[in-house]
Amino acid sequence: MIRATKIVATLGPASASPEVLERMITAGANVVRVNFSHGSAAEHTATVRQVREIAARLGRDIGVLADLQGPKIRIGKFAQGRIELAVGDRFTFDTTCESGDQQRVGLDYKELVNDVHAGDTLLLNDGRVVMRVDRVGSTTIECTVTQGGALSNRKGINRQGGGLTAPALTAKDMDDMKTAVGFEADFIAVSFPKNAADMYMARELMRAAGGHALMIAKIERYEAIGNLEEILKASDGIMVARGDLAVEVGDAAVPALQKRMIRMARELNRFAITATQMMESMIEAPVPTRAEVSDVANAVLDGTDAVMLSAETAAGKFPVETIEATARICTEADRSQRVPLDGEFLNRRFSRIDQSIAMSALFVANHLAIRAIVALTQSGSTALWMSRLDSGVPIYALTPEERTRRRMTLYREVHPVLLQYKSVEREALLLEAEQTLVAAGLVARGDRIIITIGEPIGKSGGTNTMKIVTVGDHG
Ligand code: PGA
Ligand code: MN
Repeated sequence: MIRATKIVATLGPASASPEVLERMITAGANVVRVNFSHGSAAEHTATVRQVREIAARLGRDIGVLADLQGPKIRIGKFAQGRIELAVGDRFTFDTTCESGDQQRVGLDYKELVNDVHAGDTLLLNDGRVVMRVDRVGSTTIECTVTQGGALSNRKGINRQGGGLTAPALTAKDMDDMKTAVGFEADFIAVSFPKNAADMYMARELMRAAGGHALMIAKIERYEAIGNLEEILKASDGIMVARGDLAVEVGDAAVPALQKRMIRMARELNRFAITATQMMESMIEAPVPTRAEVSDVANAVLDGTDAVMLSAETAAGKFPVETIEATARICTEADRSQRVPLDGEFLNRRFSRIDQSIAMSALFVANHLAIRAIVALTQSGSTALWMSRLDSGVPIYALTPEERTRRRMTLYREVHPVLLQYKSVEREALLLEAEQTLVAAGLVARGDRIIITIGEPIGKSGGTNTMKIVTVGDHG
């Protein structure tokens, strides 16, 4: 069975060698994520070159997701590298502090003193350490520790309930955006956007740099939840960024938000990635916990396009095994239960011809036994529409455009296939499409398939035709 749900694998020291990278791709990674929170521009550029070489050698389309660091507020460094805090300890964040100790530490964002007030709750190191703010001075935030733990250099700091005013794109993000455009990232993820304006600004910068990437909003801020619809409309897709989101809204609120975000993304013709701690224990162990198996499967049942692996593949001991296990869980969950059809589906009115054809193909797939939907596409938009509703069959998206194939690596149920377009004559092209799929072992003689195509062929203008054929039936 071909897997519908895609896997995003974060790259890092654990996946630096070409051998491991190749095994990760063979095991089922569809998209690789380069994380600009770590590493240099030159390193990321070299990594992406390596991924593209391996993908070309394997004849696979692999998407590249560049993840910008964003305005993550971090504490400074400690003279000792690390301290232990206990409940009741007094601790001060001091923007003038150069080298931290048991009583105080510096901050990389000087404005934080303007954003927090006495009584606020600050969470450090992804919520592992919690403090209550007692007093705010012009350069200091004095706190009492309410949950103790270890604190080490450059750990993140969040305010419960959000409300931090740091701009969505930092100077570093703008530089990194140019690097990402330079290595032709297929997707660029913006960290901590608050609203649609943050996403418009990011997209404009990406375009100004000459890029063509799809823009992903990482939903990880309290404010973003209230602005979800406008953020979705300003983006191509979203990431359910559970790590920071849990810190800002409270961990218990995240599962229901995940379901709401994925449903809303699909309804608005956007894609969704579910991220963070999906297979966390596999950083250290060769098998996942029962809870992780359920978490990955439940994200699939929620209708996510992709599940993302972070430290598991970037810094873990078992990057390849983690992808194998994730692929196995997704493949089974994909087919165990259909993602419910949007109740409005049959009543919806469409404004576009290509969208109408995509929906007609889905209707047929739901009412006639067919093996696959085959979409001949230039931009990939027909395939995206088709994949927003669950048809229960794979969608093979055939195109000569490499850029289009790479962006479709993230769409659930869509499998990019290279079609040469040897002919622009209709019957010859349909035959070429059929033969390409048969040669790849994706369909067989006698299978009934739906083909969608834009006519006249060779003129980009969108899909306007649908044909139901039996493979090999040419008389
Ligand atoms: P990060 O984003 O891994 O860049 O922090 C994902 C998350 O916050 O869940
Ligand atoms: Mn995050």
